[in-house]
Amino acid sequence: MTRVLSTSPQRPSDVVVDVPATEPGAVLAAAAQARVAQREWACAAPGVRSAALAAIAQAVADNAAELAALAVREVGKPAAEAAGEVARTIALLRYYAQQAFDPIGETYPTGGGLGFTARRPRGVAGLITPWNFPLAIPVWKSAPALAFGNAVLIKPSPDATACALRLAELFTAHLPAGLFSVLPGAAETGAALVSCVDAVSFTGSGAVGRGVAVDAARRGIPAQCEMGGLSATIVLPDADLDRAATDIAYAAMGFAGQKCTATKRVVVVGDSGPLGEALASKIGALGFGDPAEPKTAVGPVISEQARDRVADAVTHARAEGGQVVASGTRAGDEGWFVGPTVIGGLAPEAALNREEVFGPITTLTSVPDLDAALSMANGTDYGLVTAVYTADLDVALAAADRCESGMVKVNAPTAGVDFHLPFGGEKDSGYGGREQGKAAAAFYTSSRTVQIGA
Ligand code: NAD
Repeated sequence: MTRVLSTSPQRPSDVVVDVPATEPGAVLAAAAQARVAQREWACAAPGVRSAALAAIAQAVADNAAELAALAVREVGKPAAEAAGEVARTIALLRYYAQQAFDPIGETYPTGGGLGFTARRPRGVAGLITPWNFPLAIPVWKSAPALAFGNAVLIKPSPDATACALRLAELFTAHLPAGLFSVLPGAAETGAALVSCVDAVSFTGSGAVGRGVAVDAARRGIPAQCEMGGLSATIVLPDADLDRAATDIAYAAMGFAGQKCTATKRVVVVGDSGPLGEALASKIGALGFGDPAEPKTAVGPVISEQARDRVADAVTHARAEGGQVVASGTRAGDEGWFVGPTVIGGLAPEAALNREEVFGPITTLTSVPDLDAALSMANGTDYGLVTAVYTADLDVALAAADRCESGMVKVNAPTAGVDFHLPFGGEKDSGYGGREQGKAAAAFYTSSRTVQIGA
């Protein structure tokens, strides 16, 4: 029987969990059980669903320190970020506990009659999640799914299995039997899930996400896929340089650059020298090492392969004419550590400016004007988030209008989008509707039209 093994990136000899993968037959059985539980859950009063989510929020709060420590151990998330992720998880649960009460529909006079729309749950929601937000992503998908009357089956990343299983213990204690399950496994388990649920919400790489979208389309079920990013930060000459450098250093290197919203390309209008120097100094000041240390901002990457991919990308970038503007090294320690690196002088078509490398690496490019900056920022297949730093609000808004990305930040880092706002990308970064905020209701429900009279 295939097994799911999750080890700690800072101490690979530390096996965090070793469990059997969920066989396709067991996935189908879980879906059948979830379908039965969902019929009752859909009819439960909003107050019942809300109270369950509030109770889960409290359970997460009561176990916050333990959950954060588990995220540190399992995916190498720096302790401060792990604590922040748990806090966000609690806030998300409380937010969707409230939304369970929100009327979501419209009324229409029809000339002698009345029409209205009501939203109905999809049924069983299949959630396929990555490892980099091992608590927040499963929760930001499952909280709205449950609030609006769906059952939930989660197929977590193998690398974040322990976090998902611990969440399942806290969730199932407050939900009817069979309504919520975590199904450990890899591609085979995920494919089985897509074959039997009523809607699928995926977050992960583009290569896998596109396949999930195609499989869902074949079955005629809705799919929502949040995929990779290659987010750019544009810095204009009138920007507050210190603020931009501080934000970019963390957005590019925090959690070793392993966020879909991490800054992967810094585009400076004019001379990039001063920003490059400021960036090198800010990055040098970031704590690098053991993620359990409170001051650590940059821990290990998730695996040996991930570490080798970053090292190979640096070698390749050098061969393409790039110069290392800043780099950190860490030798002699156990674990998948790789130094934060900034590469300058690459052409827009260089590999690092085209392909996502999920690690602490970013490019720095100088361009003559805003048109060239936008052309560079938009010149990839990705379109998740773009940041613009300028003192001129008119310029910021005009630039925001021309960014080919689902989200734009002004004088704020690419990473870290408030969860009350719709979240999602354009082009190869996103497919099938937005997550979080009030946008989640559109995915986890379908609309029914009722007309009374003429
Ligand atoms: P991944 O694509 O390797 O895996 C994502 C999930 O898909 C995992 O649970 C995996 O087991 C599952 N999976 C793999 N093959 C499958 C198949 N054939 N059918 C069904 N499921 C399958 O991604 P990852 O390495 O876990 O995460 C990193 C990627 O996620 C990066 O590209 C990052 O940019 C992206 N990401 C995007 C967002 C966003 O909101 N846009 C957020 C976080 C991470």
